[in-house]
Amino acid sequence: MKFQDKNNEELIRELNILQHENNSLKNLYNEISRLKKVEMSLIASEIRYRRLFESAKDGILILDAETGKIVDVNPFLIDLLGYTHEEFIEKAIWEIGSFKDLISNQHKFLELQKNNYVRYDNLPIITNHGHKIQVEFVSNVYLSDKQNVIQCNIRDITARKVIEQELIKAKEQAEQSDKLKSAFLANMSHEIRTPMNGILGFASLLNQPNLTATEQQEYIHIIEESGTRMLNIINDIVCISKIESGLMEVNISESNINEKIDYIHTFFKPEIENKGMQFLIKKPLPFREAFIRTDREKLFAILTNLVKNAIKYSEEGSIELGYEKKEGYVEFYVKDSGIGIDKSRQKAIFERFVQADISDKRAYQGAGLGLSISKAYVEILGGKIWVESEKGIGSTFYFTIPYTNELKETAAITNDNDNSINEKQVSNLKVIVVDDDNISDLLLSLMLTEISREILHAKNGFEAIELCRNNPDTDLILMDVKMPKMNGYEATRQIRQFNTSVVILAQTADGMISDKDKATEAGCNEHLSKPIIKNELMSVIQHCFIL
Ligand code: ADP
Repeated sequence: MKFQDKNNEELIRELNILQHENNSLKNLYNEISRLKKVEMSLIASEIRYRRLFESAKDGILILDAETGKIVDVNPFLIDLLGYTHEEFIEKAIWEIGSFKDLISNQHKFLELQKNNYVRYDNLPIITNHGHKIQVEFVSNVYLSDKQNVIQCNIRDITARKVIEQELIKAKEQAEQSDKLKSAFLANMSHEIRTPMNGILGFASLLNQPNLTATEQQEYIHIIEESGTRMLNIINDIVCISKIESGLMEVNISESNINEKIDYIHTFFKPEIENKGMQFLIKKPLPFREAFIRTDREKLFAILTNLVKNAIKYSEEGSIELGYEKKEGYVEFYVKDSGIGIDKSRQKAIFERFVQADISDKRAYQGAGLGLSISKAYVEILGGKIWVESEKGIGSTFYFTIPYTNELKETAAITNDNDNSINEKQVSNLKVIVVDDDNISDLLLSLMLTEISREILHAKNGFEAIELCRNNPDTDLILMDVKMPKMNGYEATRQIRQFNTSVVILAQTADGMISDKDKATEAGCNEHLSKPIIKNELMSVIQHCFIL
């Protein structure tokens, strides 16, 4: 019965009615408020804990601490492991398939019984649906008058582990690329400084009085060689950048592989023989069957790169270049008797900036780019590249190219390497050199002196348009494309509006974009990449004026 005390607090009393001997009744009220409150708060907290248990985002399993039988399981674990409530209840934990490996028998269950707290991290278990997941398993023993229980909390950490693995991988990759970057910078610095040293050092020596003509020639030769070496490095870097950014173009045409091999043989033979070595070649296909459709520049680059490496890494014996015709493809090889490559490095050398022996890098010049470029080229052409090598014995590099040949009846051969020119045929030109760089302007002017009657100079696009308008008898414009105020493409476009006959040659220096297309689209007749070599310049001019 409910009453209220003087403070308006609710009182709950139990009424006991006692019968006296004289048959009178006596009401006895027992104060039970406190007891009732405790009981109610116990019920409330049980409801609260029940709600927590049911809505927990971790799996919870309650076991009888004596028998290991499952007394309760929350909905999250039912969902996670894919068993029904009935399949859990009254089963011993080791009878549930997912826990078989963890607690395979009663003996193992002792561990949970004996220790107040047990924790297993990264536990792989298989759900009833057959999914592999990783969990964190924590058990606690709770003793009570009613029943001693073990509460097991099971947390699904599969997604967290995947993210952790990805983070570890990303960290390792970042460290690796950091190392590569450092190695690359160290290497680049060395590779660029060495030829620069040659160029600047010998250029300053050329200033010395009393040099003999032979000494002068020797120094000039070194400067040229150093410049070529530096250009090779820059070309390699540009090439790798193009490959990585997907800007590498492929130009498929017909190419004769026997001819390519002959050309490389002629070109490298003197260098190889100078080292006291032999250069052998093998061309099993007859000339007319040796045509394939491929990107001839890339094929040539791969072959020359492998031969150059063979020369670089061999001191004696022989180098052999050849191919074998297989079913549907041609397998090229370059074999040397050089220093060889350790088995453990044979895969890595095809990666960017990687050299087989980093500690040895001072001994051989190179940025570790040649093979990665070759690999990218081979793959662009639809083939594979690999190496077989033994340290101290030698290496054989192989690569394949699809063989897509229809028999050539008329062996019309284009000589790719014909740079022969006849400078005398073009002369007496009126030229405008457009370049904001004084040295480039001077260099071009010197190269053009012998074929020009007059050379005019402009420093930007505006000046070029003006000069051309005022000199309608101009025959040739050497147009730098990158200039302040107005670039060469725009200047060409505007010149073409009033002069369609003047020959305009674009000269570019970045090599990153499709310069040729841009130049043609602007109205240039031809396109040249800096550094401009006199022979090439003359050949292009002759082509524009005579052919
Ligand atoms: P690099 O500019 O260093 O020569 P490459 O990419 O062409 O770069 O070659 C990578 C590395 O592979 C070289 O540094 C060298 O250690 C190794 N290598 C390449 N070709 C040969 C070869 N023919 N014999 C021995 N080692 C070679």
